[in-house]
Amino acid sequence: MNSDNTNLFDTPIEYLKGVGPARAAVLKKYLNIFTFNDLLNYFPFRYIDKSKIHKISEIVSDQVYIQLKGTISNITETGSGHSKRLTAWFSDDSGTIELVWFQGIKWVSASIREGYEYFLFGKPNVYKNSFSIPHPELELSILREEKKVNIRFQPVYSTTEGLSRKGLDSKGIAKLQIALLERVLKEIPEILTTQLLVSYHLMERKEAYKQIHFPTDSEALEKARYRLKFEEFFIQQLEILSYRINREQKIKGFVFGEIGHYFNSFYKGYLPFELTEAQKRVIKEIRNDMRSGKQMNRLLQGDVGSGKTIVALLCMLIAKDNGFQSALMAPTEILAIQHFHSIGLLLSELDIKIEILTGSTRSAQKKKIIAGVENAEIDILIGTHALIEDNIRFKKLGLAIIDEQHKFGVAQRAKMWAKSQNPPHVLIMTATPIPRTLAMTFYGDLETSVIDELPPGRKEIKTYHFYESKRPDVFDFIKKKIAEGRQIYVVYPLIAESEKLDLKNLMDGYDMMSHVFPLPEYQTGIVHGKMKADAKEYEMKRFKKGESNILVSTTVIEVGVDVPNASVMIIESAERFGLSQLHQLRGRVGRGAEQSFCILMSSVKLTSDARVRMETMTKTTDGFKIAEVDLQLRGPGDMAGTQQSGLLEFKIANLATDQPILQDARKSALQLIENDPELKKDDHYPLKKYLLNYRKGKYNWSLIS
Ligand code: ADP
Ligand code: MG
Repeated sequence: MNSDNTNLFDTPIEYLKGVGPARAAVLKKYLNIFTFNDLLNYFPFRYIDKSKIHKISEIVSDQVYIQLKGTISNITETGSGHSKRLTAWFSDDSGTIELVWFQGIKWVSASIREGYEYFLFGKPNVYKNSFSIPHPELELSILREEKKVNIRFQPVYSTTEGLSRKGLDSKGIAKLQIALLERVLKEIPEILTTQLLVSYHLMERKEAYKQIHFPTDSEALEKARYRLKFEEFFIQQLEILSYRINREQKIKGFVFGEIGHYFNSFYKGYLPFELTEAQKRVIKEIRNDMRSGKQMNRLLQGDVGSGKTIVALLCMLIAKDNGFQSALMAPTEILAIQHFHSIGLLLSELDIKIEILTGSTRSAQKKKIIAGVENAEIDILIGTHALIEDNIRFKKLGLAIIDEQHKFGVAQRAKMWAKSQNPPHVLIMTATPIPRTLAMTFYGDLETSVIDELPPGRKEIKTYHFYESKRPDVFDFIKKKIAEGRQIYVVYPLIAESEKLDLKNLMDGYDMMSHVFPLPEYQTGIVHGKMKADAKEYEMKRFKKGESNILVSTTVIEVGVDVPNASVMIIESAERFGLSQLHQLRGRVGRGAEQSFCILMSSVKLTSDARVRMETMTKTTDGFKIAEVDLQLRGPGDMAGTQQSGLLEFKIANLATDQPILQDARKSALQLIENDPELKKDDHYPLKKYLLNYRKGKYNWSLIS
């Protein structure tokens, strides 16, 4: 046996007994299994408990997989063509149940025999008030007794048809795992310290790998799962935290020591309202970062409408006071334009040069901006992705703010950094409240600030869910609100896959609204992503100024748009939106002092998930609660903006359900890294060795900011 166990685990899978080139090819193709280590970490997705034998009379509805023991009789073939099927009776001393096959009938009828005793595994089905078991797995009882196999929990591995054809169905994979464990089990190193094993009652690593594939009982299985989840989170947190520490050591931050003329004159003379306590606290946190000598990397979370823009503005003034430029990047053109106008208005009395750069900036203007940024004539540059194009070089970029971060990928975040010699301070603002587990992983390397208070005088938005039959009432309600001077949003879904149809629905919706709310009494506008930028801007301006009463749009208004007088949000086909999107859209109203309303229109046919989404929206306006439900419904991989990172892919841990384990793992990773940042202690040698190997195959952490 190979003495260096690192190499042993890296052995190509074809060299495992029972694999060979042909099977290796399908293992690589379908399961990404290239090495011994990959196979070892390919865990069962469930287990069949072979120790328990149920009685037929005990079967209740909707049971999971069970094992029965009994004899077969009455094998019968019925029907023809597509409705052809094979049935049989299966009986024990408590009763009889029907077995059914729809496929492979010839093969099954040739291989089962009446009168013999079998062990049966299967999932009972209820059909017309009686139970049957479709496609059961059968094993002659004398065979089991002869083999004396004593596996209690039979692992079930997910597999594909291509694998099964090469004999690698679940049982085939289990056989490989047995061969693998024989070869490597003794060599599996413990990588966690004894202290950790003791304090968190963790099963030893070797044992955990054995138990996860072939558990002796359910308690051992639970402990194995717990151990492996802990390890997975722990390693990840260690990586994130050491990345952060490394960055802090390597990168010097600009020191913004001054609070000077610009900040003070704005604060005293032009601040349009008193800041909330939460806003004040957050500004202090940011200010402390920016003068600490470390580069700031801070996530600012604040629910929609909590007032993040003014915080951003004040921070940019601090940068200016210290002789630095700032950049503010927004995810959409509409939002960039809106920031440009509102920030421009607030700063109009101060001698500060602000510019906007988006995809539709004309090239002459763009040239001027590029020059102005390069010679630091421009203090604040606001824009979209256009800001991070390679030809934009700042002379002295001190602060980069990314608004509504969930629309940007990690790579784009990192690009902001390269904008000047020394990376600027980075503030990431997000209005999508992030469940704690996601924040700890996706943003695990960032400091966080939370604005947990809305500006005073806000009334909680009232949310209703209606079906089509209520539409006349909804129209009456809109009329009433317009008569009171309010404005209305009507939002339609638009997704790439069904774009044509969606656009048609949007246009039909616009026609309907224009018809029900006719000129000249009513003005209805429309915005969608396919319109030219100036047409969009024209419509947005009209709505903002109160010249139009109704704005029909797609989700282009999802983030950031701020029209305080708009107090009714109608969301059409609401069942097609995700929770965080619904929450974002709802956040467009409730910005003024008026009572605001959100009306979810949906079809009557709803999936159970859609029903939960509608109920959640009508029950709560708490963004964090909504984000938690969203995580439970969708799983972390689908949460907005997180797909591209690879950071949320776990083999066994689950961000939606394993929050306490993650918290423990993060805490211990932090302790470890604080007390031995370079893992120099003897106790930490196995871990260090493991990490070096692990990093070879992992993401490039330097790309993640
Ligand atoms: P978001 O956090 O969603 O970006 P905005 O910055 O757009 O929120 O602020 C939402 C609205 O609340 C804006 O109209 C803004 O002028 C207003 N606002 C922000 N802070 C306060 C405050 N402290 N008092 C009163 N109104 C505020
Ligand atoms: Mg905003």
